[in-house]
Amino acid sequence: MRFQTNLIHGNRADDRETGATNVPIYLSNSYAHKTAKELADIFSGRDMGYVYTRISNPSVDAFEKRMLAVEGGIAAIATASGMSAIYLALMNILLPGDEIIAASGVFGGTYNLLKNLQQQNIKVKFLDELNDKTLTSEITEKTKVVFAETIGNPKLDVLDIETVSRVCSEKEVVFIVDSTVTTPYLIKPIELGADIVIHSTSKYINGTSNAIGGIIVDGGSVKYMNSKYTNFEMYAKRFRKFAFTAKLRNELGKDLGTSMAPMNANLNLTGIETLKLRMREHCKNALQLAEYLSASPKVTEVNYPGLKESPYYTLASKYYGNECGGILTVRFGSKEKAYSFIDQLNIMSNLANIGDTKSLIIHPASTICAQNTTEEKEQMGVYEDLVRISVGIEDIEDIIEDVQQALDKI
Ligand SMILES: *Cc1c(COP(=O)(O)O)cnc(C)c1O
Repeated sequence: MRFQTNLIHGNRADDRETGATNVPIYLSNSYAHKTAKELADIFSGRDMGYVYTRISNPSVDAFEKRMLAVEGGIAAIATASGMSAIYLALMNILLPGDEIIAASGVFGGTYNLLKNLQQQNIKVKFLDELNDKTLTSEITEKTKVVFAETIGNPKLDVLDIETVSRVCSEKEVVFIVDSTVTTPYLIKPIELGADIVIHSTSKYINGTSNAIGGIIVDGGSVKYMNSKYTNFEMYAKRFRKFAFTAKLRNELGKDLGTSMAPMNANLNLTGIETLKLRMREHCKNALQLAEYLSASPKVTEVNYPGLKESPYYTLASKYYGNECGGILTVRFGSKEKAYSFIDQLNIMSNLANIGDTKSLIIHPASTICAQNTTEEKEQMGVYEDLVRISVGIEDIEDIIEDVQQALDKI
Protein backbone atom coordinates (compact mmCIF):
# COMPACT_ATOMS: atom_id res chain seq x y z
CA MET A 1 0.00 0.00 0.00
CA ARG A 2 1.09 3.53 -0.68
CA PHE A 3 1.51 6.17 2.02
CA GLN A 4 -1.98 7.68 2.19
CA THR A 5 -3.65 4.25 1.96
CA ASN A 6 -1.41 3.06 4.79
CA LEU A 7 -2.44 6.00 6.96
CA ILE A 8 -6.03 4.73 6.71
CA HIS A 9 -5.68 0.96 6.30
CA GLY A 10 -2.16 0.04 7.53
CA ASN A 11 -2.47 -3.00 9.85
CA ARG A 12 -6.15 -2.22 10.17
CA ALA A 13 -8.30 -4.70 12.05
CA ASP A 14 -12.01 -4.05 12.32
CA ASP A 15 -13.64 -5.03 15.59
CA ARG A 16 -14.22 -8.77 15.57
CA GLU A 17 -17.38 -8.69 17.66
CA THR A 18 -19.34 -6.00 15.84
CA GLY A 19 -17.48 -5.12 12.65
CA ALA A 20 -17.07 -1.54 13.89
CA THR A 21 -14.64 0.19 11.51
CA ASN A 22 -13.13 2.27 14.30
CA VAL A 23 -11.37 0.14 16.89
CA PRO A 24 -13.40 0.63 20.08
CA ILE A 25 -11.93 2.50 23.02
CA TYR A 26 -11.23 -0.33 25.44
CA LEU A 27 -11.47 1.40 28.80
CA SER A 28 -10.76 -1.80 30.69
CA ASN A 29 -7.81 -2.01 33.06
CA SER A 30 -7.72 -5.78 32.98
CA TYR A 31 -8.79 -8.79 30.95
CA ALA A 32 -10.39 -11.96 32.25
CA HIS A 33 -9.25 -15.39 31.07
CA LYS A 34 -11.07 -18.69 31.47
CA THR A 35 -8.39 -20.77 33.08
CA ALA A 36 -5.46 -20.16 35.39
CA LYS A 37 -3.17 -21.73 32.80
CA GLU A 38 -4.38 -19.41 30.03
CA LEU A 39 -3.54 -16.33 32.10
CA ALA A 40 -0.20 -17.79 33.17
CA ASP A 41 0.71 -18.49 29.54
CA ILE A 42 -0.02 -14.90 28.55
CA PHE A 43 1.98 -13.62 31.51
CA SER A 44 4.98 -15.69 30.56
CA GLY A 45 4.81 -14.67 26.91
CA ARG A 46 4.06 -18.21 25.71
CA ASP A 47 0.69 -17.02 24.43
CA MET A 48 -0.67 -13.75 23.01
CA GLY A 49 -3.35 -11.82 24.85
CA TYR A 50 -4.14 -8.92 27.12
CA VAL A 51 -3.54 -8.87 30.83
CA TYR A 52 -3.50 -5.31 32.13
CA THR A 53 -3.70 -1.97 30.29
CA ARG A 54 -0.44 -0.59 31.70
CA ILE A 55 1.22 -3.40 29.74
CA SER A 56 -0.98 -3.56 26.64
CA ASN A 57 -4.46 -2.60 25.46
CA PRO A 58 -6.35 -3.33 22.22
CA SER A 59 -7.00 0.36 21.39
CA VAL A 60 -3.37 1.28 22.00
CA ASP A 61 -2.26 -1.79 20.07
CA ALA A 62 -4.25 -0.65 17.04
CA PHE A 63 -2.49 2.73 17.10
CA GLU A 64 0.95 1.13 17.53
CA LYS A 65 0.29 -1.13 14.55
CA ARG A 66 -0.84 1.78 12.39
CA MET A 67 2.28 3.79 13.28
CA LEU A 68 4.41 0.77 12.49
CA ALA A 69 2.78 0.37 9.07
CA VAL A 70 3.36 4.04 8.32
CA GLU A 71 6.86 4.52 9.74
CA GLY A 72 8.43 1.13 8.89
CA GLY A 73 10.45 -0.85 11.44
CA ILE A 74 9.69 -4.02 13.36
CA ALA A 75 7.77 -2.90 16.46
CA ALA A 76 6.22 0.19 18.04
CA ILE A 77 5.46 1.19 21.61
CA ALA A 78 3.03 4.01 22.38
CA THR A 79 3.69 6.16 25.45
CA ALA A 80 1.96 8.75 27.61
CA SER A 81 3.85 11.66 26.01
CA GLY A 82 6.68 12.51 23.68
CA MET A 83 8.92 13.13 26.68
CA SER A 84 8.24 9.67 28.09
CA ALA A 85 9.00 8.17 24.66
CA ILE A 86 12.40 9.88 24.70
CA TYR A 87 13.12 8.95 28.30
CA LEU A 88 12.17 5.30 27.76
CA ALA A 89 14.11 4.97 24.51
CA LEU A 90 17.26 6.40 26.11
CA MET A 91 17.09 4.67 29.47
CA ASN A 92 16.34 1.32 27.87
CA ILE A 93 19.90 1.54 26.57
CA LEU A 94 21.94 3.69 28.95
CA LEU A 95 23.73 2.78 32.16
CA PRO A 96 25.62 4.99 34.62
CA GLY A 97 29.01 5.83 33.13
CA ASP A 98 27.70 5.88 29.55
CA GLU A 99 27.82 8.83 27.18
CA ILE A 100 25.30 10.33 24.74
CA ILE A 101 25.98 12.66 21.86
CA ALA A 102 23.09 14.97 21.03
CA ALA A 103 22.43 17.75 18.59
CA SER A 104 22.40 21.06 20.47
CA GLY A 105 19.33 22.16 18.50
CA VAL A 106 17.02 19.65 20.19
CA PHE A 107 13.65 20.59 21.70
CA GLY A 108 13.95 22.44 25.05
CA GLY A 109 12.30 19.65 27.05
CA THR A 110 14.69 17.13 25.54
CA TYR A 111 17.67 19.39 26.19
CA ASN A 112 16.77 19.55 29.88
CA LEU A 113 16.03 15.82 30.08
CA LEU A 114 19.48 15.08 28.64
CA LYS A 115 21.14 17.56 30.97
CA ASN A 116 19.38 16.01 33.97
CA LEU A 117 20.73 12.57 33.06
CA GLN A 118 24.10 13.79 34.34
CA GLN A 119 22.64 13.23 37.83
CA GLN A 120 22.63 9.55 36.95
CA ASN A 121 26.26 9.79 35.86
CA ILE A 122 25.34 9.73 32.18
CA LYS A 123 27.42 12.25 30.29
CA VAL A 124 25.89 14.28 27.48
CA LYS A 125 27.89 16.04 24.78
CA PHE A 126 25.88 18.61 22.84
CA LEU A 127 27.26 19.25 19.35
CA ASP A 128 26.25 22.21 17.18
CA GLU A 129 26.55 20.04 14.12
CA LEU A 130 26.51 16.30 13.69
CA ASN A 131 28.78 15.34 10.82
CA ASP A 132 31.55 12.92 9.93
CA LYS A 133 34.23 15.01 11.59
CA THR A 134 32.46 16.03 14.80
CA LEU A 135 31.08 12.55 15.41
CA THR A 136 34.33 10.76 14.66
CA SER A 137 36.19 12.96 17.11
CA GLU A 138 33.54 12.82 19.88
CA ILE A 139 32.36 9.20 19.83
CA THR A 140 34.24 7.15 22.44
CA GLU A 141 33.99 3.56 23.72
CA LYS A 142 31.45 4.88 26.24
CA THR A 143 29.14 6.45 23.65
CA LYS A 144 25.97 4.34 23.48
CA VAL A 145 23.55 6.71 21.77
CA VAL A 146 23.54 9.51 19.23
CA PHE A 147 20.32 11.52 19.51
CA ALA A 148 19.03 14.17 17.11
CA GLU A 149 15.91 15.67 15.59
CA THR A 150 15.28 15.47 11.83
CA ILE A 151 14.66 19.21 11.86
CA GLY A 152 15.42 20.82 15.23
CA ASN A 153 12.60 22.50 17.14
CA PRO A 154 13.01 25.50 17.16
CA LYS A 155 16.56 25.83 15.76
CA LEU A 156 15.34 24.34 12.46
CA ASP A 157 18.75 22.87 11.69
CA VAL A 158 18.47 20.00 9.23
CA LEU A 159 20.00 16.69 10.21
CA ASP A 160 22.11 14.89 7.62
CA ILE A 161 20.54 11.55 8.48
CA GLU A 162 22.49 9.43 5.99
CA THR A 163 25.86 10.71 7.19
CA VAL A 164 25.03 10.27 10.86
CA SER A 165 23.58 6.80 10.17
CA ARG A 166 26.76 5.78 8.40
CA VAL A 167 29.08 6.95 11.18
CA CYS A 168 26.84 5.33 13.80
CA SER A 169 26.96 2.05 11.85
CA GLU A 170 30.74 2.14 11.59
CA LYS A 171 31.07 2.87 15.30
CA GLU A 172 28.19 0.58 16.30
CA VAL A 173 26.41 3.31 18.23
CA VAL A 174 22.60 3.37 18.42
CA PHE A 175 21.13 6.29 16.48
CA ILE A 176 17.82 7.66 17.81
CA VAL A 177 15.91 10.21 15.74
CA ASP A 178 13.08 12.42 16.93
CA SER A 179 10.96 12.97 13.80
CA THR A 180 8.14 14.94 15.47
CA VAL A 181 8.60 18.01 13.27
CA THR A 182 8.80 16.08 10.00
CA THR A 183 6.48 13.08 10.51
CA PRO A 184 6.61 9.96 8.32
CA TYR A 185 4.99 11.98 5.54
CA LEU A 186 8.20 13.96 5.03
CA ILE A 187 10.81 11.38 5.98
CA LYS A 188 11.23 7.82 7.24
CA PRO A 189 14.49 7.81 9.19
CA ILE A 190 14.58 4.01 9.58
CA GLU A 191 14.87 3.62 5.80
CA LEU A 192 17.87 5.96 5.99
CA GLY A 193 19.63 3.94 8.68
CA ALA A 194 18.25 5.24 12.00
CA ASP A 195 17.82 2.56 14.66
CA ILE A 196 14.94 4.09 16.62
CA VAL A 197 12.42 6.77 15.66
CA ILE A 198 10.40 8.60 18.25
CA HIS A 199 7.54 11.06 17.89
CA SER A 200 5.62 13.30 20.16
CA THR A 201 2.26 12.20 18.72
CA SER A 202 0.78 15.22 20.52
CA LYS A 203 1.79 17.30 17.49
CA TYR A 204 1.23 16.48 13.80
CA ILE A 205 0.30 12.80 14.22
CA ASN A 206 -2.69 13.70 16.37
CA GLY A 207 -3.08 16.92 14.43
CA THR A 208 -5.68 18.82 16.43
CA SER A 209 -4.07 18.90 19.89
CA ASN A 210 -6.58 16.78 21.74
CA ALA A 211 -4.28 14.05 23.12
CA ILE A 212 -0.80 14.06 24.63
CA GLY A 213 1.17 11.03 23.54
CA GLY A 214 4.35 9.57 22.14
CA ILE A 215 5.59 6.61 20.16
CA ILE A 216 8.84 4.67 19.89
CA VAL A 217 9.36 2.81 16.62
CA ASP A 218 12.07 0.15 16.66
CA GLY A 219 13.99 -0.26 13.41
CA GLY A 220 15.30 -3.68 14.47
CA SER A 221 19.00 -3.05 14.92
CA VAL A 222 21.67 -5.68 15.48
CA LYS A 223 23.92 -3.21 17.32
CA TYR A 224 22.71 -4.47 20.71
CA MET A 225 24.61 -7.69 20.00
CA ASN A 226 27.87 -5.76 20.41
CA SER A 227 29.28 -6.69 23.81
CA LYS A 228 29.55 -3.04 24.85
CA TYR A 229 25.75 -3.08 25.28
CA THR A 230 26.20 -5.28 28.36
CA ASN A 231 22.61 -4.83 29.57
CA PHE A 232 21.31 -6.36 26.31
CA GLU A 233 23.24 -9.61 26.51
CA MET A 234 20.29 -11.88 27.33
CA TYR A 235 17.84 -9.99 25.07
CA ALA A 236 20.18 -9.92 22.08
CA LYS A 237 20.73 -13.69 22.33
CA ARG A 238 17.08 -14.56 22.76
CA PHE A 239 15.30 -11.89 20.70
CA ARG A 240 17.95 -10.88 18.13
CA LYS A 241 16.57 -7.92 16.16
CA PHE A 242 13.71 -7.51 18.63
CA ALA A 243 16.14 -7.02 21.55
CA PHE A 244 15.36 -3.32 22.08
CA THR A 245 11.58 -3.76 22.14
CA ALA A 246 11.69 -6.98 24.17
CA LYS A 247 13.82 -5.29 26.84
CA LEU A 248 11.67 -2.15 26.89
CA ARG A 249 8.38 -4.05 27.14
CA ASN A 250 9.76 -6.34 29.82
CA GLU A 251 11.60 -3.75 31.92
CA LEU A 252 11.27 0.03 31.86
CA GLY A 253 7.96 0.13 29.95
CA LYS A 254 6.31 -1.91 32.70
CA ASP A 255 8.30 -0.39 35.54
CA LEU A 256 7.50 3.25 34.78
CA GLY A 257 3.97 2.64 33.56
CA THR A 258 3.99 5.51 31.10
CA SER A 259 1.59 3.82 28.72
CA MET A 260 -0.64 5.69 26.30
CA ALA A 261 -4.25 6.11 27.42
CA PRO A 262 -6.74 4.10 25.26
CA MET A 263 -8.79 7.24 24.60
CA ASN A 264 -5.70 9.03 23.27
CA ALA A 265 -4.81 6.08 21.05
CA ASN A 266 -8.28 6.33 19.52
CA LEU A 267 -7.97 10.09 18.95
CA ASN A 268 -4.56 9.54 17.34
CA LEU A 269 -5.96 6.85 15.05
CA THR A 270 -8.51 9.36 13.81
CA GLY A 271 -5.89 12.08 13.49
CA ILE A 272 -3.32 10.08 11.55
CA GLU A 273 -5.73 9.34 8.69
CA THR A 274 -5.40 12.95 7.50
CA LEU A 275 -1.67 13.36 8.21
CA LYS A 276 -0.65 13.63 4.58
CA LEU A 277 -3.37 16.13 3.67
CA ARG A 278 -2.51 18.29 6.67
CA MET A 279 1.27 18.14 6.21
CA ARG A 280 0.99 19.24 2.60
CA GLU A 281 -0.95 22.31 3.68
CA HIS A 282 1.35 23.02 6.65
CA CYS A 283 4.41 22.93 4.38
CA LYS A 284 2.83 25.02 1.63
CA ASN A 285 1.57 27.66 4.07
CA ALA A 286 4.87 27.79 5.99
CA LEU A 287 6.90 28.40 2.84
CA GLN A 288 4.53 31.15 1.68
CA LEU A 289 4.55 32.81 5.09
CA ALA A 290 8.36 32.56 5.31
CA GLU A 291 8.66 34.24 1.90
CA TYR A 292 6.20 36.95 2.89
CA LEU A 293 7.99 37.67 6.18
CA SER A 294 11.44 37.75 4.51
CA ALA A 295 10.25 40.61 2.34
CA SER A 296 9.12 42.72 5.32
CA PRO A 297 11.40 45.56 6.49
CA LYS A 298 10.05 45.04 10.05
CA VAL A 299 11.67 41.62 10.22
CA THR A 300 15.42 41.15 10.74
CA GLU A 301 15.63 37.43 10.02
CA VAL A 302 13.43 34.55 8.95
CA ASN A 303 14.64 31.05 9.63
CA TYR A 304 12.98 28.37 7.50
CA PRO A 305 14.97 25.56 5.87
CA GLY A 306 12.94 25.89 2.67
CA LEU A 307 14.19 29.45 2.06
CA LYS A 308 17.14 29.74 -0.34
CA GLU A 309 19.00 31.99 2.11
CA SER A 310 18.79 29.36 4.89
CA PRO A 311 22.15 27.78 5.76
CA TYR A 312 20.29 24.45 5.71
CA TYR A 313 18.70 24.93 2.28
CA THR A 314 20.94 22.43 0.45
CA LEU A 315 20.43 19.69 3.02
CA ALA A 316 16.73 20.50 3.28
CA SER A 317 16.32 20.22 -0.51
CA LYS A 318 18.11 16.87 -0.50
CA TYR A 319 15.87 15.32 2.14
CA TYR A 320 12.64 17.27 1.86
CA GLY A 321 12.45 18.80 -1.62
CA ASN A 322 10.22 21.84 -1.35
CA GLU A 323 8.24 20.56 1.65
CA CYS A 324 10.28 21.54 4.73
CA GLY A 325 7.72 21.31 7.52
CA GLY A 326 5.38 23.78 9.16
CA ILE A 327 7.65 25.56 11.65
CA LEU A 328 9.56 28.79 11.19
CA THR A 329 11.21 31.32 13.46
CA VAL A 330 11.34 35.08 13.03
CA ARG A 331 13.57 37.74 14.62
CA PHE A 332 12.53 41.36 15.08
CA GLY A 333 15.61 43.09 16.51
CA SER A 334 14.25 43.38 20.06
CA LYS A 335 12.19 41.48 22.59
CA GLU A 336 9.68 44.35 22.74
CA LYS A 337 9.01 44.12 19.03
CA ALA A 338 8.67 40.34 19.22
CA TYR A 339 6.17 40.69 22.09
CA SER A 340 4.28 43.42 20.24
CA PHE A 341 3.97 41.22 17.14
CA ILE A 342 2.55 38.33 19.21
CA ASP A 343 0.11 40.59 21.05
CA GLN A 344 -1.34 42.06 17.86
CA LEU A 345 -2.17 38.75 16.18
CA ASN A 346 -5.77 37.62 15.96
CA ILE A 347 -5.75 34.26 14.22
CA MET A 348 -2.57 32.83 15.73
CA SER A 349 -2.80 31.60 19.30
CA ASN A 350 -0.01 32.43 21.73
CA LEU A 351 0.73 29.07 23.32
CA ALA A 352 3.30 26.32 23.85
CA ASN A 353 2.62 23.73 21.16
CA ILE A 354 3.26 22.88 17.53
CA GLY A 355 1.62 20.75 14.87
CA ASP A 356 -1.97 21.85 15.30
CA THR A 357 -4.29 22.65 12.37
CA LYS A 358 -4.43 26.11 13.98
CA SER A 359 -1.55 28.57 13.61
CA LEU A 360 0.40 28.96 16.86
CA ILE A 361 3.05 31.38 18.05
CA ILE A 362 5.35 31.63 21.06
CA HIS A 363 8.28 33.63 22.41
CA PRO A 364 10.53 30.66 23.34
CA ALA A 365 13.17 32.64 25.30
CA SER A 366 10.69 33.65 28.02
CA THR A 367 8.58 30.48 28.02
CA ILE A 368 9.75 27.01 26.96
CA CYS A 369 13.44 27.95 27.31
CA ALA A 370 13.05 30.27 30.34
CA GLN A 371 14.96 27.78 32.52
CA ASN A 372 18.00 27.84 30.24
CA THR A 373 21.03 30.12 30.32
CA THR A 374 21.62 32.58 27.47
CA GLU A 375 24.38 30.34 26.16
CA GLU A 376 22.12 27.28 26.17
CA LYS A 377 19.35 29.24 24.46
CA GLU A 378 21.70 30.28 21.69
CA GLN A 379 22.79 26.66 21.26
CA MET A 380 19.10 25.87 20.76
CA GLY A 381 18.72 28.70 18.25
CA VAL A 382 16.66 30.82 20.66
CA TYR A 383 17.18 34.58 21.01
CA GLU A 384 15.38 37.33 22.94
CA ASP A 385 13.96 38.85 19.74
CA LEU A 386 12.79 35.55 18.24
CA VAL A 387 9.32 34.05 17.91
CA ARG A 388 8.45 30.56 16.73
CA ILE A 389 5.45 30.05 14.50
CA SER A 390 3.78 26.71 13.87
CA VAL A 391 1.92 27.48 10.69
CA GLY A 392 -1.57 26.00 10.59
CA ILE A 393 -3.74 24.95 7.69
CA GLU A 394 -6.05 27.96 7.61
CA ASP A 395 -6.30 29.79 4.27
CA ILE A 396 -2.89 31.35 3.74
CA GLU A 397 -4.49 34.67 2.73
CA ASP A 398 -6.02 34.96 6.20
CA ILE A 399 -2.75 34.06 7.94
CA ILE A 400 -0.85 36.64 5.88
CA GLU A 401 -3.48 39.35 6.45
CA ASP A 402 -3.25 38.72 10.18
CA VAL A 403 0.55 38.89 10.10
CA GLN A 404 0.46 42.01 7.92
CA GLN A 405 -1.76 43.99 10.32
CA ALA A 406 0.41 42.91 13.28
CA LEU A 407 3.62 43.95 11.48
CA ASP A 408 2.04 47.32 10.67
CA LYS A 409 1.46 47.96 14.38
CA ILE A 410 5.02 47.19 15.57
C1 LIG B 1 6.72 18.46 21.83
C2 LIG B 1 7.96 17.78 21.50
C3 LIG B 1 8.45 16.77 22.33
C4 LIG B 1 7.80 16.40 23.63
O1 LIG B 1 6.55 15.81 23.43
P1 LIG B 1 5.34 15.87 24.48
O2 LIG B 1 4.29 15.06 23.80
O3 LIG B 1 4.99 17.31 24.67
O4 LIG B 1 5.83 15.26 25.75
C5 LIG B 1 9.61 16.12 21.93
N1 LIG B 1 10.25 16.46 20.80
C6 LIG B 1 9.80 17.43 19.99
C7 LIG B 1 10.56 17.75 18.75
C8 LIG B 1 8.65 18.13 20.31
O5 LIG B 1 8.22 19.11 19.51
